[in-house]
Amino acid sequence: MADPALEKALGDVLTTLHEMDRAGLTEGTAGNVSARTDDGRVVLSPTALPYAGMTVDDLVVTDRDGRVLRGERAPTTEIDLHLACLRRHAEIRSVVHTHAVHASMFAVAGQPIPCVLEEFEYYVGGDVLVAPYHRTGTTSLGEAAAERLGDRAAVLLANHGLVVVGSSAAEALQLTKLVERAARIVWGARALGEPVPLPTAIRDEFAASYLDRRRKSVSAD
Ligand SMILES: [Zn+2]
Repeated sequence: MADPALEKALGDVLTTLHEMDRAGLTEGTAGNVSARTDDGRVVLSPTALPYAGMTVDDLVVTDRDGRVLRGERAPTTEIDLHLACLRRHAEIRSVVHTHAVHASMFAVAGQPIPCVLEEFEYYVGGDVLVAPYHRTGTTSLGEAAAERLGDRAAVLLANHGLVVVGSSAAEALQLTKLVERAARIVWGARALGEPVPLPTAIRDEFAASYLDRRRKSVSAD
């Protein structure tokens, strides 16, 4: 039966998983991706399966409470992380979780990634904060991440990695690359001295622009 909304989400997640793997943002089968349809179905990557040969038949579809609607495999063990973010922030459609090296350095140090680049403010909406540590795969980790994400496009998981949200999986992966690049730049800039903050007025303007686009993304299609 034709189901264009679901086919679109399945294709978005699969393409993003392949690109996440190719770009080296995770190691092995770590990292996971989700995207939802407008009627509340959620496409998730499966657990413990290499990404290179993955097809749409390997993906799992659940409802917003995690009940499996389609798929032979078990969903990612980080399913609660994805569902908590999607439930709490109705305007986002996708969640990408990676162990990107430079972002994870900040997560391990327990330090936010400061917003000192124009494009970062525009696309992420401010500093990337650190959600307190909870064991991987737990409901409490999902709730902590969704809460700390707030009005930004990204949040760090203490001693773990990075979570980025967007209007599609492709967009969330693109933003993951932007956050990882910014983390690397800040790390290098600190070796040279203390990074110079952006002017407050510019930060406010770009952060407002991010929020405006995020709110409109739901009604955009
Ligand atoms: Zn992880």
